[in-house]
Amino acid sequence: MKQELLETVSINYDPRPELIGAASYFHAQGWMLGTAGNLSAKMPDNSFWITASGKSKGKLTHDDFVRVYSDGSVEAPRTASIKPSAETSIHSCIYELFPEAQACYHVHSVDANLVSHFVDGDELPLPPLEMIKGLGVWEENPNCIMPLFDNHFKVPQIADDIKTRFLAQKPQIPALLIRNHGVTVWANSLETARNYIEITEFVFRYIVAAKKAGI
Ligand SMILES: [Zn+2]
Repeated sequence: MKQELLETVSINYDPRPELIGAASYFHAQGWMLGTAGNLSAKMPDNSFWITASGKSKGKLTHDDFVRVYSDGSVEAPRTASIKPSAETSIHSCIYELFPEAQACYHVHSVDANLVSHFVDGDELPLPPLEMIKGLGVWEENPNCIMPLFDNHFKVPQIADDIKTRFLAQKPQIPALLIRNHGVTVWANSLETARNYIEITEFVFRYIVAAKKAGI
């Protein structure tokens, strides 16, 4: 492919159809009910498209997204009153900490909320399931933990906590859990981010089932 063509492809890149598809799928799983959760995808200029605040995630349209630039400015297509997700500061923080990340997905599920109560500290131990390999941990019986953060009414406070902790120590897996709230993942493609959400939700479901079964 010629360089000019590559540049045209990247200028014309629009991740919104894939984000709409992912939101619709997550909504169908019960992980993005009502207006909960937010999905974003990075653009070649380091800005990112993110779901707008207060939109039903089961029926998003192209106009239900805003583009956030690295200087903090926001571009909303068509509707001037549309606002970025209230949790945009977490997405900005993730893209800053992990420059290779191309997508950041965050959902709210019952199982994620339940497992966040199973430990008191700031780490959720993950069972050594085969599925963990899908998060990039290729070890026999991996000793894997998911970083756990307290929920705050002021979301930038959560973002600050994430930044402080991950600057001191990078997480083992591309995922974090906010207590009583939900999981956030990041990945080098939209498809991988979608896989990570499925894997983390599978693991949460397993932890809840194992506790119920007394395992
Ligand atoms: Zn949330």
